[in-house]
Amino acid sequence: MSAHEAWSLVCRLFKGGTPVFKAALSPAEVNACASLGPAIKPTAISQTFALCPYCQLRSGQIFGDGKGGQICQCPECGPTVLSAEDRAALMLDEGWLRSKLRMAMEIESRDGITDICDGVWRLGDARRAPVLLARSLTRLWSDPSIFDRVRVAGADIRVIAPKTREVRGNPFSVGVEWLPLEERFTLYGGGIAFIGSDTGQAPLIAAEPWAAYLGPFSSDFRWVTLDDWSHGPIRCTDGQAAIFRALWSFKGVKVEAERIMLKAGQESQKPNDLFKIKKENKGKPEYEGPLHAYRTLVKSTQRPGEYWMPCAATER
Ligand SMILES: [Zn+2]
Repeated sequence: MSAHEAWSLVCRLFKGGTPVFKAALSPAEVNACASLGPAIKPTAISQTFALCPYCQLRSGQIFGDGKGGQICQCPECGPTVLSAEDRAALMLDEGWLRSKLRMAMEIESRDGITDICDGVWRLGDARRAPVLLARSLTRLWSDPSIFDRVRVAGADIRVIAPKTREVRGNPFSVGVEWLPLEERFTLYGGGIAFIGSDTGQAPLIAAEPWAAYLGPFSSDFRWVTLDDWSHGPIRCTDGQAAIFRALWSFKGVKVEAERIMLKAGQESQKPNDLFKIKKENKGKPEYEGPLHAYRTLVKSTQRPGEYWMPCAATER
């Protein structure tokens, strides 16, 4: 069971937008559901129809067997005994999907999610640019006024939507960018990661954006791979990546905080300011990971406050 298969299932369930019978899923997909935890929730599809347990192709009407049990009357196979397991259905917790996509896009939490119309949500603003989530591109084509309702001056609209067979390239006019759900996002550390998030940089290593390239860092310093961190590659924010990039450029030499912050283009006073964890995020791997990386890789002295990264000296 790979993360890729599990992510494909999430995308498929979101695209469909309806519950599915557990019996209609492949064994790999059932495993994927288990690995997805809170993203998938059990549900009931119908009190009157069930997927035929025998052929698993047709739906049959549900009847009582007169002894407290149930029978599925399949139009092809005839009556078949129905167990509770046969009627079990699953659905994607779309609230989970929306909140994790917001985190992946680094959307500030103070602006909430807006229900724009059936199957279209405004997730919020990422770096002042609106981000939409749509169940289908067709919904947006059929009503382009949706864009007028979210557009802001000087920023492109980004649309997260599943792929459709007929679309290649960008299906929208200038000012609207499509991010295919299946390709630009992936499961990561109990959440969702945005692949190739640095603007202007092609997602060259889209399959494994975290591949260590410069010491423990990915080529864009947004991912850190450390053996003693059990949650997989550590994903950094833009600011944290800028700190690591700056420290790397000093090749392991001790440098005062001010020079590092200037080089990183960050307004905080000290490099470690960007790694502090708010009380409500304590213990969450996505926040603890970068701090762990900082503590492992960066050395400092108190007075004068100097910082250096030994791994940058050895890797040339
Ligand atoms: Zn049947």
